[in-house]
Amino acid sequence: MFVGLCCAAMVAQAQKPAIPRDAELEAKIEKTLGKMTLDEKIGQMLELNLDVMGKMTVENAKVDREKVRSVMQQYGAPPKETETLLKMTDQQIIDKLGSYPVDIYQGETKRVWQLNETMLDTLISKWKVGSILNAPGTRAPSVEQWQKWIQLIQKKSMKYLGIPDIYGLDHNHGVTYTQGGTLFPQPINLGASFNTELARVGAEICAYESRAANCPWVYNPVVDLSRDPRWPRVWESFGEDAIVNSKMVVAEIKGYQGDDPNHIDRFHVGTSTKHYFAYGAPWTGKDRTPAYLSPQIIREKYFEPFKQAALAGTLTMMVNSASINGVPVHASYEYLTKWLKEDLQWDGMLVTDWADINNLFSREKVAKDKKDAIRIAINAGIDMSMDPYSVEFCILLKELVQEGKVSMDRIDDAVRRILRVKYRLGLFENPNTGGKGFEKFGSDEFAAASLQAAEESIVLLKNEDNTLPLDIKKFKVQSSKFKVLLTGPNANQMRCLHGGWSYTWQGSKAEDLAEKYNTIYEALCNKYGQENIILEQGVTYNEGGAYYDENEPEIQKAVDAAANADVIIACIGENSYTETPGNLTDLWLSQNQRDLVKALAKTGKPIILVLNEGRPRLIADIEPLAKAVVDILIPGNYGGDALANLLAGDANFSAKMPYTYPREINSLNTYDYKVSEEVGTMAGAYNYDAKVSLQWPFGYGISYTTYEYSNLKIDKASFTADDILTVSVDVKNTGSRAGKEAVLLYSSDLIASIVPDNKRLRDFTKIELQPGEVKTVTFRLPAKSLAFVGADGRWILEEGDFILKVGNQTVPTACAQTKVWDTPNI
Ligand code: BGC
Repeated sequence: MFVGLCCAAMVAQAQKPAIPRDAELEAKIEKTLGKMTLDEKIGQMLELNLDVMGKMTVENAKVDREKVRSVMQQYGAPPKETETLLKMTDQQIIDKLGSYPVDIYQGETKRVWQLNETMLDTLISKWKVGSILNAPGTRAPSVEQWQKWIQLIQKKSMKYLGIPDIYGLDHNHGVTYTQGGTLFPQPINLGASFNTELARVGAEICAYESRAANCPWVYNPVVDLSRDPRWPRVWESFGEDAIVNSKMVVAEIKGYQGDDPNHIDRFHVGTSTKHYFAYGAPWTGKDRTPAYLSPQIIREKYFEPFKQAALAGTLTMMVNSASINGVPVHASYEYLTKWLKEDLQWDGMLVTDWADINNLFSREKVAKDKKDAIRIAINAGIDMSMDPYSVEFCILLKELVQEGKVSMDRIDDAVRRILRVKYRLGLFENPNTGGKGFEKFGSDEFAAASLQAAEESIVLLKNEDNTLPLDIKKFKVQSSKFKVLLTGPNANQMRCLHGGWSYTWQGSKAEDLAEKYNTIYEALCNKYGQENIILEQGVTYNEGGAYYDENEPEIQKAVDAAANADVIIACIGENSYTETPGNLTDLWLSQNQRDLVKALAKTGKPIILVLNEGRPRLIADIEPLAKAVVDILIPGNYGGDALANLLAGDANFSAKMPYTYPREINSLNTYDYKVSEEVGTMAGAYNYDAKVSLQWPFGYGISYTTYEYSNLKIDKASFTADDILTVSVDVKNTGSRAGKEAVLLYSSDLIASIVPDNKRLRDFTKIELQPGEVKTVTFRLPAKSLAFVGADGRWILEEGDFILKVGNQTVPTACAQTKVWDTPNI
């Protein structure tokens, strides 16, 4: 027994903490903890929605049925009950749900929210609540409003508890919930930019503007790995690859938190890397449904960016609402405590996602009631429960402690972690920023950074006959006039450019807050002159309906307008959404939109497709009708301007696909598939066909210039596990325009004891090249990063041949000696 304990202690000592400890700060935590009562400790572990401490008055109420559906789903209501409710009249629905602090209304509904100070007082003095989140009714208030509310919350927290509150907001690609701030392109665009510096800068701006609004904690970055195109949250992470997500998350954590996670200054914030983990692999394709994954893919891919986030010092993580191989992540001691807190010695704090402890009994059925669910989750390693609308958590957790079902040690561990975050953020010393000294909020400087990120994140996928750039002079030579028909539902609205988590949860009903930015139409008018742009959309979204609802199409009008145009730009894709309301029944782009493109193609005018979508919607039947295709993904508030600059040739394309774009519904795959997943046609008696058909591969993207790769070299023809491989390649700009090129290093393990991945991205960088310029890019690749998780669950680097690839170059190398690791991480 003694020997066992001794060894365990030695292992714990040997493992370096993910975030280096600060002794002075740790002493403060112990002192504060030592003075706290059980009620105070439990209160720290609860996070409530701001809505519960205020009142929404509603005028001119009109119900939004999709919001009702989503609210019911979030509360775990049985589908039958939801359907019955949806059949009721608006008034009946309001009678049932109107008294709850939930947003079920359409945009025209005038809602005024007022903080109820007495309620706030009770929640903090009696229930000792330690954290609050969200914007009232999920709509962005002003900086002044936030300063006022959060200052009041802090005043009461310091008065009653002597411990500051930690306020959290979904400031996901900029300050979602603060009016007048800077919105960046969505993370999927940053993934496409392959430029980690853009991610760092965007995060730093978001941190600054969040603190301007007195908010110290953001629920970002998102590194779920978007490996299933059906999932409605594909666009919230950096794409399908583990290394892209890992490098981006490290850059963003630096941007958000600054250089020292123990001492975060008033211009930086704490992060909540989410959703830990494997959320992006829903078996059904629908949001918050179970994932079934091999131990290899879990450890090698889905876990990797979270591991890097822990090592980079993310202060907190938010947990995946769904389950992996039948175990809800909120109930998994192995994933929450063992993998993160023990194996990595990560001393940050784990917060649940929205009401997810409740979901352990209401949806997942692994707990018999709420109390049982709390027992399971807290014992698994959850530190803070985002239980938005109820303080029942405090009562039930206290009972569990008194009954000995949750130990005091576990409570102390959770509270220590929460206090640590608050100390690290400097909230004890300065609970408020006061809003002074934030002159750059919403500045031109920040706007320029967002525009640059948008330009670098828009992917050129096809450009036949050099259709692009669309140069007025070139056109005038050809046809003595220059008229563009701009068509499609995404041509003239901000909502689809900034996407979900923009001013409102779904990004909808926020046109008034985004008025000053340019839609694609406005940006093209600025660029080419309004007289040269004919706007006839042909298909429009129904803003009163679900995100996928479209109005009666007017395709003939667009076709008629094409008669006067030299070229057609069709802006197609999706309207904004997030989470469960963004679920999908068919991956094909809407029939109306495809019909519009087909009808326009019959005019014989050249078509440029502009794709503006949160996930790759199938377009195989219309892609051949286009001369050029540009995927703008969800480029943010400056996306229209960025597109106009790129189309006109005032900026050059430099982005590459952050995910695999499928061509058909039964060909959903990722670039790092197992070699036997895509075998093409197997010659033999029956010529078996197992082809997977792609529209565009991961990492694909062209530009107005061309690059030539040569001289790929590796310093070692043979290596062992401890070696560092130096890999270099020359890249030349062989075209006539300056450009930026993302250089991607892949490896392939040719023969392995379990079926090897076709190829794996191992590193990337982005360089800028003038015409004719050559640069040598050098990667330093630890040989152990070529290891994989073997059939027995242990990391292994096997003796045998590898190929490294960059651009069209390949170089062989070989591992001389097999190595197996006994540690969970290498
Ligand atoms: C989402 C999270 C978000 C949280 C708080 C949940 O529904 O899944 O991504 O951070 O709400 O708003």
